[in-house]
Amino acid sequence: DKLPNKTILSLNNVVKSFGDFTAVKGISLEIKEGEFFTIVGPSGCGKSTLLKIASGLLEATGGNVTVDRDRLGYVFQDATLLPWRTVLSNVELLAELHDIPKVERRQLALEAIETVGLSGFVNHYPRSLSGGMRMRASLARTLTLKPPVFLFDEPFGAVDEITREHLNDETQRLFQSEGFAGLFITHSIAEAVFMSTRVMVMSARPGRIVAEFDVPFEYPRKPELRFDPEFAALSGEISRELRGSHQ
Ligand code: ADP
Ligand code: MG
Repeated sequence: DKLPNKTILSLNNVVKSFGDFTAVKGISLEIKEGEFFTIVGPSGCGKSTLLKIASGLLEATGGNVTVDRDRLGYVFQDATLLPWRTVLSNVELLAELHDIPKVERRQLALEAIETVGLSGFVNHYPRSLSGGMRMRASLARTLTLKPPVFLFDEPFGAVDEITREHLNDETQRLFQSEGFAGLFITHSIAEAVFMSTRVMVMSARPGRIVAEFDVPFEYPRKPELRFDPEFAALSGEISRELRGSHQ
């Protein structure tokens, strides 16, 4: 159990069909401790389907999944905050659903809120927050459970580019400080390369793996990495695979 680099999540030859339509076909991947694994692929290639199968929200038609589902962090594109609850009370929600006692969950929530830089906003309601701040609150809510693995389904797809870069900087910092493994989904190549240890490219109809890349940059990664020629070169390679997969 204490071995370094133990496997946190594995998909083995996963297939998902909806009636006659095969959404994903023969996907295998393994995510170890300390890995941040990102899947990029065109819209409709089965990324969300794969994440739902990993989380247990959806059952695979074939293949199998190994993961500890008791403490799985799931962050969606929408921040899914309850409008009638304050930031603090929204962040306490998951801990509440997990029957963590009141005093303890308040403590966990306040810590998580501080981690994402929202300490000045504990008593605010979601409507008075920017899109980026709502995503931070959503991240904090998941952090309270201290999950060993986070599943992210295009969480920053709806914010502007500058905010997205800030959120990428912060997610990468959290990945380092909190020590979770990540399975991240996006169609932004820059976001994938900036945060990940590995990037996998998926094709559509049916969704399958077409390429996989190791990302060699050391952590913590500085914002300037985005202007590094090596960063551009790797992004270019991934982009070529992605464009190839559209044909
Ligand atoms: P992505 O997240 O990559 O955009 P999805 O995983 O949402 O793609 O969907 C993959 C494919 O499966 C799409 O063609 C979509 O229409 C189809 N699909 C997803 N969910 C269902 C469902 N419940 N019933 C039928 N088809 C579905
Ligand atoms: Mg999707």
